[in-house]
Amino acid sequence: MKNIDQFNFKNKRALIRVDFNVPLNENFEITDSSRIDAAIPTIKKVLKEKGAVILMSHLGRPKNGPENKFSLKHLLPYLSEKLQLEVQFADDCIGNTATEKAQALKKGEVLLLENLRFYKEETAGDEGFSKKLASLGDVYINDAFGTAHRAHASTAIIANYFSENKMFGYIMNEEIINLNKIMVDPQRPFTAVLGGAKVSGKIEVIHNLLEKVDNLIIGGGMMFTFIKALGGNIGNSLVEEKLFTMAVETIQFAKDENVNLYLPTDAIIADDFSNEAKQSVSSSYNIPDGWIGLDIGPETTKKYQAIIDQSITLLWNGPMGVFEMSNFENGTKNIAMAIAKATKEGAYSLIGGGDSVAAINKYKLQNEVSYLSTGGGAMLEYVEGKILPGIQAIESE
Ligand code: AMP
Repeated sequence: MKNIDQFNFKNKRALIRVDFNVPLNENFEITDSSRIDAAIPTIKKVLKEKGAVILMSHLGRPKNGPENKFSLKHLLPYLSEKLQLEVQFADDCIGNTATEKAQALKKGEVLLLENLRFYKEETAGDEGFSKKLASLGDVYINDAFGTAHRAHASTAIIANYFSENKMFGYIMNEEIINLNKIMVDPQRPFTAVLGGAKVSGKIEVIHNLLEKVDNLIIGGGMMFTFIKALGGNIGNSLVEEKLFTMAVETIQFAKDENVNLYLPTDAIIADDFSNEAKQSVSSSYNIPDGWIGLDIGPETTKKYQAIIDQSITLLWNGPMGVFEMSNFENGTKNIAMAIAKATKEGAYSLIGGGDSVAAINKYKLQNEVSYLSTGGGAMLEYVEGKILPGIQAIESE
């Protein structure tokens, strides 16, 4: 794998695609800097070897050209402080200013380019735009795993202009190494825990995982589509009726693949979608009309904990219930804790997807699991078995 440890950056201008898509509050202050923090080691490696750094990223979803609220200039104070140097800024990611500033850049200096998505050519993967971006640097580094599943100008097409001089940064490198621990010859038993609101969007993940795992544990809103498809009464719980056939086929496929597919046997139900609602425990196959299943129940939690405890490889994506509401967080919390416990006892655990990572952070278990993936969509597509354009662009000659 081509990564930056095999390269010397002396007197080189490294053009780095980072994922600085951080949340900002109404005063344009960063409310969670973790994506910037994660990119610092890659930037520092170039600077340490007396290279110069040009950073490019997207921020938010601007619709029609430049918009102040999506300007990357808001990140300058934090980035400068973090790197202990004054980061320069080009208020356009291509054109004269960007070119002049990039050319004038001295070793040890950092230039941040304005939001790539102020140009629709970025997401369109436009060749001409990619070429203009490419002209700014001698070397291309992709360190934006969060957008690696997109064939955008700065994440994939640009790599065509750097024949040999293209590589992964440390974040990309770590993501690939960790994802391959579950995708390539995982240690067994291998258990995948899937939750979240819906089954749609995760069907291919489920199918690809069924070819790899020993146990597939299902929770969250998606459980009800399976349970209803099997003839259960789910009251007013979340359901995707169009996926009933798929659900039944998935259960059969699990049998064919010799995978234990577990569905919750009980659920925490509520008479309203609210933390203040009246709540009760019910069989997940017999939820009264008017009631909604909002978490897995105690019997299911116990069963799932036992399976996790016996696993050597663990993948978790998606909460077990509406964990944002304290009365329906127990399933998610207990599963998170079970994964941390198994990790302590020697299992390898990978957590991916915004909500599962948020849950791990909420319960302060960040340091008690093996790896937290930084990319939701990208991670799911990797687990689906797809070749991500951002990875392919670096690996192809
Ligand atoms: P996803 O983005 O598909 O991973 O879904 C995450 C969301 O699923 C979270 O915001 C949870 O609140 C929600 N969720 C989990 N369980 C349920 C449930 N039983 N009913 C409705 N929403 C749920």
